[in-house]
Amino acid sequence: DMTTDGVLTADTHLIQSFADLNLLKQDGARTVIVGAEGSMVRDSEGNELIDGIGGLWCVNVGHGRKEIIDAIAQQLNQLDFYSTFYNFTHPTAAALAEKIASLAPGPLNKVYFANSGSVANDSAIRILHHYNNRLGRPKKKKILSRIGAYHGSTHLSIAMTTPAYSDGWDHAEGLVHHLKSPHFWREGDGMTEAEFCDSLVQDLKDTIENIGAENIATFIAEPVQGAGGVVMAPDGYHRRMAAVCEDYDIKYIADEVVTAFGRLGHFFASQDIFGYTPDIITTAKGLTSGYQPLSATIVSDEIHEVISRPGGMFLHGMTYSGHPAAAAAGLANIALMEKEQIPERVRTTGKLFENTLKGLSDLHIVGEVRGSHFMMGIEFVKDKATKQGFAPEDAIGLKLARAAQKRGLIARPLGNILILSPTLILTEQQIGQIGNILRDSIEEVTRSL
Ligand code: PLP
Repeated sequence: DMTTDGVLTADTHLIQSFADLNLLKQDGARTVIVGAEGSMVRDSEGNELIDGIGGLWCVNVGHGRKEIIDAIAQQLNQLDFYSTFYNFTHPTAAALAEKIASLAPGPLNKVYFANSGSVANDSAIRILHHYNNRLGRPKKKKILSRIGAYHGSTHLSIAMTTPAYSDGWDHAEGLVHHLKSPHFWREGDGMTEAEFCDSLVQDLKDTIENIGAENIATFIAEPVQGAGGVVMAPDGYHRRMAAVCEDYDIKYIADEVVTAFGRLGHFFASQDIFGYTPDIITTAKGLTSGYQPLSATIVSDEIHEVISRPGGMFLHGMTYSGHPAAAAAGLANIALMEKEQIPERVRTTGKLFENTLKGLSDLHIVGEVRGSHFMMGIEFVKDKATKQGFAPEDAIGLKLARAAQKRGLIARPLGNILILSPTLILTEQQIGQIGNILRDSIEEVTRSL
């Protein structure tokens, strides 16, 4: 199914993720990426495109960084593979765990590695299961999540994800409860933002009272909801939600799969930006800037102390947990971020990016431009006053993404929303270019409506 120059024909053996598989049967529906450098990618037709989604919210330091590629090669030459099962370990995984502990908020000092954000979240739940078992309270296992959440695609992490993504996938009855969406612009009708925040905190308290704190292990939340449409919670929300959880002895998991490693201008967003300290942070993506599949579940000393008490073993493991090549990529990636002061830089360039996109708000079909720094979403509406959205058959996101790609920018369509999560090394000139391309694309699609 490959032509000699590596271009895929319409019908291949590869099943693609979150794709309309029927649409992919059309010739030319696929974009085949064959190379990348810095913030640019090259497709099989020779087009140079700005990578406005950073691979998949993950290529934070940019493409083609020799420092990371060389570190991976060097590691494989030294030690290709050994596991971190039983009493075995290796220096690279241990060094990366130590480095992550030094960057994470104070009490979060123990790191469990896996290979995806989905499994990082599953691992957090498994760790809390062991924690509560050790404390003699096996019933304390229900999970609070939120409408609009995305936590992954495994059996458990899809259950924690917003129901709209799970297509009716069944899971243990009542295991996961979804709290209200924190999206003020959509859900805050008639309330001030402060009143809306009060209502969300009240929803948490009521839910805990209904289900019983003795049955609830955890509340899991992204600092900024990503795949749910880039939704920022109201001011003070996370701090207040965390305080309620602490009162009821419910562990707070911050899913920082997207928000960590500089995307919002800090290594971690929960404490440094939003002012709360979770009990567990899960992260992936920017941890290696996507050069290797790797995730981390970072737990507090208190949780670790309980799961390492005498009387049993930690019954959880994946063969590739802490894979040497992935750990080497993580170490080299973080070293690069520190050397080039990437998080600090994002506080300026990311703010410019945010403001450039917010500058599109005057356009007729732009309903809300939201997000922070290099994590942005633009929601399009048919009618600004009523916030009425476009119908699915209008395929507005897809049309806009295509119009942008034609002009040299990759953006990610999500229903009526366009997502931008570029590399963190965009130049001011590229940021200006993205703003212009988006404006032209939105105007073109508006005219065609
Ligand atoms: N959590 C969040 C917030 C994510 O955005 C994602 C993926 O996009 C995941 C978890 C799942 O990560 P992965 O796709 O690596 O399994």
